[in-house]
Amino acid sequence: MLELVLADRCTGCNACVAACPTNVLDAQPDAPPVIARQGDCQTCFLCELYCKADALYVAPDVDSARPITPAEAIGGGTLGRYRRESGWDEWAGDPRHANEHWRMGEMFGIAARIDAEARVKVRLVESSQPAPERDQALPI
Ligand code: SF4
Ligand code: SF4
Repeated sequence: MLELVLADRCTGCNACVAACPTNVLDAQPDAPPVIARQGDCQTCFLCELYCKADALYVAPDVDSARPITPAEAIGGGTLGRYRRESGWDEWAGDPRHANEHWRMGEMFGIAARIDAEARVKVRLVESSQPAPERDQALPI
């Protein structure tokens, strides 16, 4: 999940806000974007990929938040690594970092299918539950 926007690095370009497919970030006037809906994060790393300032930290855990301080994120040495390893921007053409992010397209498709199937199962389980007793729910 997206854990951090490092204000000291952020240029306010809002590329991360535009790139996020699930609208996790909110743009702010004259300030770095804020993580407004962390629970909607799919850990797709697209925001990291589009952040040329390497001001974002996405933890690899898809299911749970993993809070981290800016100092820990910087010390961990992973800021910008996904963008670099994907061969984007200044890394384009560097044979050590081939641009293979396109390979993620297939994985996103698989993830979307799994998510859709899980949602259908949840709806089926919910529809098999008995309806709540409405007569007791409304006091006169
Ligand atoms: S893409 Fe990076 S620099 Fe641009 S607003 Fe987002 S965090 Fe800031
Ligand atoms: S990791 Fe993906 S889903 Fe999560 S905030 Fe970044 S772009 Fe959005």
